Amino acid sequence: MQTFRDLAALRECIGTWKRDGLRVGFVPTMGNLHAGHYALVELAQQHCDAVVASIFVNPTQFGPNEDYARYPRTEQRDADGLAQAGAAALFLPSVDVMYPFGAIGCVQMHVPGITDILCGAHRPGHFNGVATVVARLFNMVQPDCAVFGRKDYQQLQVIRYMAGELSFPVEIIPAPTLREPSGLAMSSRNQYLSDPERESATAIYRTLQQMRAACIAGVPVAQIERDAETALQALGFTVDYAEIRSAALAPASRAADNKRVALIAAFLGRTRLIDNLEFEIP
Ligand code: AMP
Repeated sequence: MQTFRDLAALRECIGTWKRDGLRVGFVPTMGNLHAGHYALVELAQQHCDAVVASIFVNPTQFGPNEDYARYPRTEQRDADGLAQAGAAALFLPSVDVMYPFGAIGCVQMHVPGITDILCGAHRPGHFNGVATVVARLFNMVQPDCAVFGRKDYQQLQVIRYMAGELSFPVEIIPAPTLREPSGLAMSSRNQYLSDPERESATAIYRTLQQMRAACIAGVPVAQIERDAETALQALGFTVDYAEIRSAALAPASRAADNKRVALIAAFLGRTRLIDNLEFEIP
């Protein structure tokens, strides 16, 4: 695996691959990698000839009181894991490479509508930062396809929408959520959890399963959402939202088909966890 911190050298490498007719895949990450990330690299390999992974903790997607400074950075371990997972190149841009005119006041992306709800409502500016960095990375790497996890369901929808509307020639490939045996969705943020919190955190996936069962049984969505929030609060969570929406994240009452997704975002202590479960109603 070749490692690049510099954009010109990365582009030269990718240019050579493309001239040789190789299809280039891309897996953007913020590092502190786990099996869920490596599975994205493996999925990308099934869709292309050479996988570029990136690690960049993107300052523009963190709010002022969020965990940007303490976000876990484990570069050497991540690089070893990516090489083992089969990545052909690793891009490690600095903030200066990503935002050559500064991260404040830079050219930004805003995907309207879908970023006003759920995590967008609770983390103002978050998805502008995500869309901005992904657009920059797409322009830098110029991949043929890029893999994003369904774990970050709303993020996946935002990127799909942006790539579609701006005609980025990048196929967006969703990857299934990898979970611990306990059901807890793998996340870099899980390591903030104490042992008792990690045990409590398994309630998120159980609650999603209960929301799915209740929805399939015909319980009104508002009641399901209230019950889920109450149950999580009783276990010590501070709940941002527990909702059932259409696959496109419209209110369930305005869903055009029988596809639904249950989504939860909740804090355990200072740690914000998100998860979701896609399903169909009969
Ligand atoms: P992050 O490093 O958290 O920004 O995540 C980088 C990519 O990995 C995103 O596309 C995430 O959706 C994806 N990802 C994170 N956790 C998981 C997981 N447990 N299963 C599958 N994909 C994941």
